[in-house]
Amino acid sequence: MSSPIILHRISATPTISTATEDPFFSPNFHLRERSLSPASRVSVASSAAASSAGVSTAQRSRSAWWSPLERPFRISPFRAIPLRWLVILLCLGMAFSIWHLPLPTTRELPPQFSASHSTSALQVLRPHNSAGVSLKDPEKWLRENSEDAVARNERWWKRAPRKPRAAIISLVRNEELEGIMQSMRQLEHHWNKKYQYPWVFFNEKPFSERFKAATSNLTSARVYYELIPIEHWSTPEWVDEDRYMNSLDYLGTIGVGKGWMLSYRNMCRWNSGFFYKHPRLRDFDYYWRVEPDVHFFCDIGYDPFRFLHENNLVYGFNMNILDDARSFPSLWAKTVDFIQQHPDLVHPDADLDWLVDEQGEYNNCQFFSNFEIGSLNFFRAKENEKYFDWLDKHGGFYYERFGDAPIHTLSVAMFAPKQSAWFFRDIGYQHDINRHCPPHSADRCSCQPTSLDENFYKLVPLESPQMKPRDTCIRQWLGSGVNGRGVDWLKKKDGWSQDAERAFGGDGYGGYVVDGMV
Ligand code: GDP
Ligand code: MN
Repeated sequence: MSSPIILHRISATPTISTATEDPFFSPNFHLRERSLSPASRVSVASSAAASSAGVSTAQRSRSAWWSPLERPFRISPFRAIPLRWLVILLCLGMAFSIWHLPLPTTRELPPQFSASHSTSALQVLRPHNSAGVSLKDPEKWLRENSEDAVARNERWWKRAPRKPRAAIISLVRNEELEGIMQSMRQLEHHWNKKYQYPWVFFNEKPFSERFKAATSNLTSARVYYELIPIEHWSTPEWVDEDRYMNSLDYLGTIGVGKGWMLSYRNMCRWNSGFFYKHPRLRDFDYYWRVEPDVHFFCDIGYDPFRFLHENNLVYGFNMNILDDARSFPSLWAKTVDFIQQHPDLVHPDADLDWLVDEQGEYNNCQFFSNFEIGSLNFFRAKENEKYFDWLDKHGGFYYERFGDAPIHTLSVAMFAPKQSAWFFRDIGYQHDINRHCPPHSADRCSCQPTSLDENFYKLVPLESPQMKPRDTCIRQWLGSGVNGRGVDWLKKKDGWSQDAERAFGGDGYGGYVVDGMV
């Protein structure tokens, strides 16, 4: 197979007024009157009325000792400055402070805020920048934009940051109302109530009134309910019906997850190549995908959309795990063909090494895409579009059960530098049996920390004949550093062997020198 050569070439590519009538001229009176409380105004009015009705001076002075009608100020600190200027200065001052106020959303702090909060939010695990690309400094961004910085009011003099055009998106069925309500509650509670990003729900069938009422009740942000165009959710005409039905039968029989479901095929295809084409998302640049029945465990003290945007990142994940290879037997071969046909589309700083095993085959690692925060423009770009079309025309969504997760993974790996994907280690999350929870985060997360290697083979049991990579997927991605620079995530303790660990009943994925729990 020629793929190793191609891949080697890819990864080896170098990087590269009249005085009395003008209110401004009426000294102090107007300014003072403007500052009266409504109760004082009543008092002024009644004192004026009392005066004209001949009420005693003593009575009058009780309620109107300060009244500008009877007792204009003698000492005014503003006398020397013309009032017109004072008012102008006041207006300018107000405009200045409005302009410089931080977003109201970012000012709200959870009551349990503490200094250690920022430490866990900043838990950054990143592959070494082997490509030598000039990149922003996301860690610095996090230090400056976490609640910690806002709490200490370090940036009060700065202009409020602009929010990216972003939305929380969810493909969901009417029947999954309870599940999506649960996911919404948690994400709103931990994050979006502060940030107010809109929710966009997608469905191939119209949403019920009950669904709309219940979900819109859970957020104060805007909510959209969108119908998926029929052409985005139907079997294309080039797909051979018999072959498709056989595949449903076969994958169902051998137990590939949801291999027998027609709707699942359309779902995977929509999530691979259509969600970003929906007209509702035209006005948005970033998305956060949310599924029904998932869990968000942690307070999130910054805006992940702004984080991606300001650091030139295109994709964020929090689990990187093995997928069931039986669902996409031809995916890698088709991908290699695509690279051969379109070498110009592959990013010069692309790094596919972490996805390829010693035999030059795909190691089946995937960003677990039910959680993803990404750039819509990345997916809309011609590179990804051509790749999706290529796979689609070969029928892999129907003859096999191509999932959106490996496709997004391969796409991000081919069309963006490795450093433009981000591991959201700080966002605790659960989807079914897969759970991710950051260490040292008890002050903001309601979950037990999970190891870096947790979840690695949960979708592919150890006893399955599928070949497993020597190292866990997340470590493959983090890598070993280059020429001794950076953390070596693959280094094992002296004397450790996979066989010996297994002989003692372990899974063979222990023994790493760096455990990632710092
Ligand atoms: P899994 O995570 O791979 O097991 O797949 P799910 O069954 O959770 O589906 C993934 C996402 O697509 C979830 O958000 C589902 O609600 C949604 N989904 C799956 N099938 C359909 C469908 O037929 N119609 C709609 N509207 N949503 C679907
Ligand atoms: Mn799911």
